[in-house]
Amino acid sequence: MPLKVHPDIASLVPYVPGKPIEELERELGITRAIKLASNENPLGPSPKALAVLSEAARTLNRYPDGGAHRLRGALADRFKLTPDHVILGNGSDEIIGLLARAFLAPGDEAVMADQTFVIYKMEVTATHGVPIVVPLKEWRHDLPAMADAVTPRTRLLFVCNPNNPTGTMVSASEVDTMMARLPEQVIVVFDEAYYEYAHSRDFPDTLRLVKQNRNAIVLRTFSKVYGLAGLRIGYGMTTPEITGYLNRVRPPFNANSLAQRAALAALEDEEHVARSRAMNQAEMTTVLAGITALGLRPLPSEANFLYVDVGQDGRKVFEALLRESVIVRHIEGRMLRITIGLPEENGRFLQALKKVLNR
Ligand SMILES: *Cc1c(COP(=O)(O)O)cnc(C)c1O
Repeated sequence: MPLKVHPDIASLVPYVPGKPIEELERELGITRAIKLASNENPLGPSPKALAVLSEAARTLNRYPDGGAHRLRGALADRFKLTPDHVILGNGSDEIIGLLARAFLAPGDEAVMADQTFVIYKMEVTATHGVPIVVPLKEWRHDLPAMADAVTPRTRLLFVCNPNNPTGTMVSASEVDTMMARLPEQVIVVFDEAYYEYAHSRDFPDTLRLVKQNRNAIVLRTFSKVYGLAGLRIGYGMTTPEITGYLNRVRPPFNANSLAQRAALAALEDEEHVARSRAMNQAEMTTVLAGITALGLRPLPSEANFLYVDVGQDGRKVFEALLRESVIVRHIEGRMLRITIGLPEENGRFLQALKKVLNR
């Protein structure tokens, strides 16, 4: 039977995730592969989260609490909000989709950077919205140009901060200047998946905008520093009016019960967060120095990964690294993105890169 598919859907390219370790080992007949491709926490899940899972599993015959009462309450307490400011997602990815579904009518526009998280473009296109793509400037979001790109049809504006894949950030004063210029009806989406890793003193306090009742949403996740990517749980903090609309399009049980319970425990696990951040910072310094010693110039990073121009076809370097059992991410052209791993993994990556680049 011939299918009738809208061209917006037919034009989408399925998301290509980082290669799973088992798949690479099977393909190349190797062992001990290391994965530095998906910005996961190399120290593993929060131990406090692991400790509650088996007990939480006893009630898997029951549907989850669709309102996620305890977790939303804990997040609200943590960030000095009320629970009606908080929405959960099956990963913060899902909240991006809910935003598109709730706020974009066909032909409505969403402004985003040209090199940023690919999910924005995908979700906007899937809901028949129009992505308006603004080039990065010196590898950072060009907020003045993004504000210039706003039209009466603009409903969403995405600021990925720190930006994936570049690792760069925009500052508090840059955000303030942009917010002062935007028409009020535009919802600004601050995707802060790497918030806990950012160390700059100029990093913007975007929750302040939410507390001022601006049309802004701050997206964060348990997938990165908390080490729970496999459980799929992320959250958004925004005005009760916006959560009200998002809840209208949210699948009722989108945050599963194990994820809710583990996230609650992980949120209290300050030791794991502190250890993860400290290791990332120390290892970032080592990896930066190692890559720089090979004559490359990685971008400064506020996250748990580095973005680097390898000076030649990045796909070839990516594939050569695979043959050394090291999985990184080829983004485009000459650019690779490398997640900071454990000290031993980073050492193996640097050795492999040196070999592959013939330095
Ligand atoms: C990893 C990541 C997310 C979060 O993904 P989850 O769906 O919460 O696992 C969101 N935005 C960016 C930019 C990311 O890199």
